[in-house]
Amino acid sequence: MEYTVETRCLHLEEEKNKDKDFGSVSFPIYQTATFAHYGVGRSTGYDYTRLQNPTREQLERIVASLEGGCDAIAFASGMAAIATLMECFKPGDHLIVDGDLYGGTIRLFNSVCKNKGIEITAIELAKEDPLPYIKENTKAVYVETPTNPMMNITDIKKLSEITKEKGLLLIVDNTFLSPYFQNPLSLGADIIVHSGTKYLGGHNDTIAGFLVTNREDVKEQLRFFYKTTGAALAPFDSWLILRGIKTLAVRMERAQENAMAVAEWLKGQSCVTKVLYPGLPEHPGYEVMKKQARGFGGMLTFEVDTTERAQGILEHVKLIQFAESLGGTESLITYPVTQTHADVPKDKLLENGITDRVLRLSLGIEGKEDLIADLAQAFTAASK
Ligand SMILES: *Cc1c(COP(=O)(O)O)cnc(C)c1O
Repeated sequence: MEYTVETRCLHLEEEKNKDKDFGSVSFPIYQTATFAHYGVGRSTGYDYTRLQNPTREQLERIVASLEGGCDAIAFASGMAAIATLMECFKPGDHLIVDGDLYGGTIRLFNSVCKNKGIEITAIELAKEDPLPYIKENTKAVYVETPTNPMMNITDIKKLSEITKEKGLLLIVDNTFLSPYFQNPLSLGADIIVHSGTKYLGGHNDTIAGFLVTNREDVKEQLRFFYKTTGAALAPFDSWLILRGIKTLAVRMERAQENAMAVAEWLKGQSCVTKVLYPGLPEHPGYEVMKKQARGFGGMLTFEVDTTERAQGILEHVKLIQFAESLGGTESLITYPVTQTHADVPKDKLLENGITDRVLRLSLGIEGKEDLIADLAQAFTAASK
């Protein structure tokens, strides 16, 4: 029997071997660039750390196990993972992407991929059927669910029925829920993207990224581009992410509990005009989330009545820190228009509802009473 997801954050079935590494309970950091050979054609299994390193390999095994993939590849950042993934596409290829995505991903698509002759069509996948947009040269569909920052929910299984029928790759960025709450490969996706910087690392202290697949052909292609372009995660950073994943299950549960409490509190504030949290039954994605995920996560977005109030809240929070990023032990509040989505054109932002009154919250694992008290004092100070 396979271990539960909670146990697989710490242990792999096949690994109990006290002869190895002197019984070290924490996986060792193999801080080496290269590996010596016994003789010609007699490698230890490792040659050079850009290709593979035992510490990184252990991390990749755990992430592959959590996502149900045949391979997971660890990159120096989430963007490095997505940029390497884009090497799979050639000039003249066409991609259908979600209109609401992480700002850095939109920048990569619009400023790098388009210049290389890759055609990109952005539609709202949570609402629109991609079928009419599929052309002869369409190769893949790229989606986040929930999206960053507007928390739109796409039905992965439904979308995968279309991509499978049309022979397209379905790529899902699973950063917001982490493998603890959602496994897109089991719903029909071909490739998963993670910013490991967020919930997997979980402590706001390391940058990392992952690609996961359950297809041998895709794995081979990705591994080739990985060793050739070289955005590999360093051994020490691999160890930090390994350590972060050990507590993924308990962190996700607490972050979700805090998000639910804060969402309910925000709903009761007269200056709050919108609360976007998919764990609220009135959220349009609630039913799909219940079907395809095991939880609703620790991220929420809300809108207030005026720009002054939004900026006042950012200036007055004390415990919650005004910073970009998400998914860590410390709660963070983000201003998408000047931070994560600063490079997205203004009309595009407005189209997605990302106004200068929109704030994004990443709930950490602090006590929820303290988080609500901090928001309450910041709301009061912002009204003066
Ligand atoms: C942060 C983020 C990325 C980019 O990851 P980095 O580790 O910052 O390079 C990609 N997708 C989503 C949804 C993110 O939140």
